[in-house]
Amino acid sequence: MLANQLILSTYLDKTIGDICPNGYANDADNHCAHFVSHAMGYGFGVTCLTMRRGKGFGANIRVQEIFPHCPTVGTWDSKPVTMTGCLVFITNASNVDLANKTMNNVPRKHVGIYLSGLIYHYSNSQHRVVQQTPEQFSHHYAAPNNAMFYGSLP
Ligand SMILES: [Zn+2]
Repeated sequence: MLANQLILSTYLDKTIGDICPNGYANDADNHCAHFVSHAMGYGFGVTCLTMRRGKGFGANIRVQEIFPHCPTVGTWDSKPVTMTGCLVFITNASNVDLANKTMNNVPRKHVGIYLSGLIYHYSNSQHRVVQQTPEQFSHHYAAPNNAMFYGSLP
């Protein structure tokens, strides 16, 4: 199931406090996977409900747990042109094992949702959802921590 562009755009500029019904919204935490999982409905693994009592949907909060759930993964440059919606990951390439579909739990890793040429992701520095081109997203970290990977939607 792919959220359409209209639905994704409604998240723009929202804080994680606006998005998470369980109030797991400390600015000191990294909310990139948390945002993606609320937007896409990913409730597997460690969720915001694991961290905090609440009555809303529990969304996964760990990038390295989402990555293996993608049916197919690969380098960003190898993304099939027909794939107009997918997840996009950025980290040091040495943290990623494509053959075994694993990602190491390191501080510098980030995930967003790619749809029709734009990437929607949670900016932990701006504390809000932003929209960027893949080229802009590629500067999220300085080299060599900015290798990009696609993952087809779980
Ligand atoms: Zn949440």
